Amino acid sequence: MSVERPTPADLRELAAAADSLAERIDTVRAALRAEDAGARRRAGFRLDDAAGNARQASRALEDTAGELARIAATPEHACGIEWGVCPRHGSTITTTGGRSRCTVDGCGNTWGYDRLSTPCPEPVTHRITDTTGATQDVCDGHAIGARDRITDVTVEPIT
Ligand SMILES: [Zn+2]
Ligand SMILES: [Zn+2]
Repeated sequence: MSVERPTPADLRELAAAADSLAERIDTVRAALRAEDAGARRRAGFRLDDAAGNARQASRALEDTAGELARIAATPEHACGIEWGVCPRHGSTITTTGGRSRCTVDGCGNTWGYDRLSTPCPEPVTHRITDTTGATQDVCDGHAIGARDRITDVTVEPIT
């Protein structure tokens, strides 16, 4: 397990360990309960909660694993505008038969999915500011599109 950057698999491994700990506690508790000596039987009272706590830990670890997996599926600082663009040329994409390509001569960018109806997965590189001061952070391709089509905004690289 990598302690520096735990993965969902690391968390699930821990969750499984917590589950098996809970089971082992249950076994020990049952064994103590079945003993004849009253003092030993009573000594097991703390274990009633202990197994439940271990199961709680397992659930917390599972939930964390799930969230880490969702985070991993979304690029950090993705542009996220509702439609895709060519990272080099902007709004120059056409889609046919569920596949997209850039129409600029010599670009050659193609995508095996309908990029026009997919939120933009490219990394944020520019900040667009309109006349009211509202800002939006976008990728290279969307910055090109904003420069070309919208006149009253400023487009600046994010450093
Ligand atoms: Zn292109
Ligand atoms: Zn974009």
